[in-house]
Amino acid sequence: MGALYVSDHPLVQHKLALLRDVRTEPKKFRELVREVSMLLGYEATRDLRLEPLSITTPMGEAFGQKLADKVGLVPILRAGLGMVEGLWEMLPSAEVWHIGFYRDERTLQPIQYYSNLPVAPTVTVCLVLDPMLATGGSAVATVDILKRWGARRIKFIGLIAAPEGLMRLREAHPDVDVHLAAVDRQLNEAGYIIPGLGDAGHRLFGTV
Ligand code: URA
Repeated sequence: MGALYVSDHPLVQHKLALLRDVRTEPKKFRELVREVSMLLGYEATRDLRLEPLSITTPMGEAFGQKLADKVGLVPILRAGLGMVEGLWEMLPSAEVWHIGFYRDERTLQPIQYYSNLPVAPTVTVCLVLDPMLATGGSAVATVDILKRWGARRIKFIGLIAAPEGLMRLREAHPDVDVHLAAVDRQLNEAGYIIPGLGDAGHRLFGTV
């Protein structure tokens, strides 16, 4: 079974409270999503592989290491876009592959409308990014797509999960590590996480 990490880091919890606050404006909200993503990404990248590297310092030869894994960031459109920047700052050579779903408001099922994955896998580790793991439909469908594509090591990074979505992702893809800042109480009948932080896409992009 893949690991489940719910961060108890003080910085993550402090920033999460600000994210939840209805008074937090989109500019601040974007900054906080970027920062929390970076902090969660720090833990999610802990097992990336390294290879040895010989380097010359001003004082002589030194042993160094460089990343051997090639990382793909896979934001689920559109709210996942808010998480790209923080991770990309730490992983500047990461490739970013977008996957888009809209939610059928009647059935709450994800309908894929976009994927720009190339024919064959170009990365060794995929980090799926979506701030809200609500019903779990889009996350499960994205991991399905990545596995069909040939991805072998896949991790999910989100800010808040509902127990229902988390269970669905863990049941469908038990091999996928999940990194979160919180697991909330429940989903409501409209598919929103309670208490959550509202619609992450609207809050990021100021579109309410
Ligand atoms: N998507 C969101 O942006 N918020 C939720 O609470 C659930 C899904």
